[in-house]
Amino acid sequence: MQAVLKFGGAALADGHAIRLAVERVGEWVSVDAGNPYNSGTDSRPIVVVSALLGVTDGLGEVARQAVLGPRSARTSMDLAGETVRIRHRSVLSQLGLPSELLDRHWRDLRMLLAGIAQRGRLDPQNRDLVLSYGERMSARIFAAALNMAGFEATPVDAWDVGLVTDSNHGQARPLQGTGQAIGSALRSIPGIAVVTGFLAKDGCGHLTTLGRNGSDLTASLLAEAAGASELVFYKDVPGIQSADPRSLPAAHVLSEVTYAEATELAFHGAQLLHPASLAPAIRAGVAVRFLSFRSGSSGTRLVARLGRTGPAALAWTRSALRVRYDLSRPERRGAKLAAAFKDLESARLTPTMVSVDGSGLTVYARSGAGAPAAATSVDEGFATLALVGHGIGGRAALAADAAEVLTGAGLAPLAIQPGGSEHSLVLALEANQLCAAREILHRELIVQPEPVLHGDLPEASGAGYPPRHGV
Ligand code: ASP
Ligand code: MG
Repeated sequence: MQAVLKFGGAALADGHAIRLAVERVGEWVSVDAGNPYNSGTDSRPIVVVSALLGVTDGLGEVARQAVLGPRSARTSMDLAGETVRIRHRSVLSQLGLPSELLDRHWRDLRMLLAGIAQRGRLDPQNRDLVLSYGERMSARIFAAALNMAGFEATPVDAWDVGLVTDSNHGQARPLQGTGQAIGSALRSIPGIAVVTGFLAKDGCGHLTTLGRNGSDLTASLLAEAAGASELVFYKDVPGIQSADPRSLPAAHVLSEVTYAEATELAFHGAQLLHPASLAPAIRAGVAVRFLSFRSGSSGTRLVARLGRTGPAALAWTRSALRVRYDLSRPERRGAKLAAAFKDLESARLTPTMVSVDGSGLTVYARSGAGAPAAATSVDEGFATLALVGHGIGGRAALAADAAEVLTGAGLAPLAIQPGGSEHSLVLALEANQLCAAREILHRELIVQPEPVLHGDLPEASGAGYPPRHGV
């Protein structure tokens, strides 16, 4: 069994976090007991890393400063660059790694920035180049930390194993049909490959990036290409939860979530890995898990279907607009509806709830870049709240229950839409009722986890993942 292990910025925040991440990788090496390098099938995990926490933003700032020109911007450019450099320096020293490990990268980055400053122009191609240093350096750090912990590991720039994209800088998409080449290139890497997330090259050899949070997509692509059996996202939370625990401390970890539920939760505002990134792994039948990088917990497994029924989780959009279009005169209703949706689209609003009645169209939407010019009214101060659970959409009884518990608590949902999706029930509220409403709905309607009976514990202590064999 081979696993692709993805570590995001939070797992690479500082030396301490990186040590924990290295421990997590070590658990996968011992899973295949004995000598993983000598077993018949390739059981070495493949690691994919993001940049250190905050570094992509920092580099974006460095690039912006550089354009301001060689003279006026020199100091601020150096200052911004210095902050990023100090971050890496201190992580190297926290890990006891050689301080010159990244010197070559700094030299190259400095030359690149000088060129940008000279030209006074930052094209998307150069911007991608500047951003790439985050992952290039974090892969070197992580591989060196693995080496130091006694694991053979090699830092790998994703393009060197054949990750090729289109030339859409800043949002590049992988080209089809490169999987086989990537798979065999990965197999030829000595030890554990520590691959840069987020980065690739286009057909002409120009560096590209896959968009913010793109290393999730890298991990998913590599899992598909390597024919991995597992893809694990190591996060700073113990798994996917029934609500964001920062807003709702009563939230619990869901042991299983369906792909459809994850998609719905992400759409309605949960800060999840975006399910679109998972598409390659899902189509290749790779098992996907979310685990905490801090310690062994069993986390959340993504599944195609599951046994439980009922609402499993909540997600919300905190500040939604209410946009209304008048359709009171019945003639040409279809054309008017079409025009209204076009108007929403040109204002770049994302509707989270839509309802049509005799008098008009009402849309609750996440605000976008523009204003809907053709609307009859646009009001601020609303929120939408989604109950998510596989197959719960369209259940009138659930909608009635939701209305009842909310009105019973003195709250006044403005609209409830039971049939908008197969897997969710969406409510619209005044924004100042969101907090109370989500608490009540979580308590009254979200399916609570089964109590763990003592005899059911899979392992006596540290019940965790990966399962340990013979250690
Ligand atoms: N470092 C990139 C970002 O911050 C990619 C990633 O973290 O996945 O968006
Ligand atoms: Mg990330």
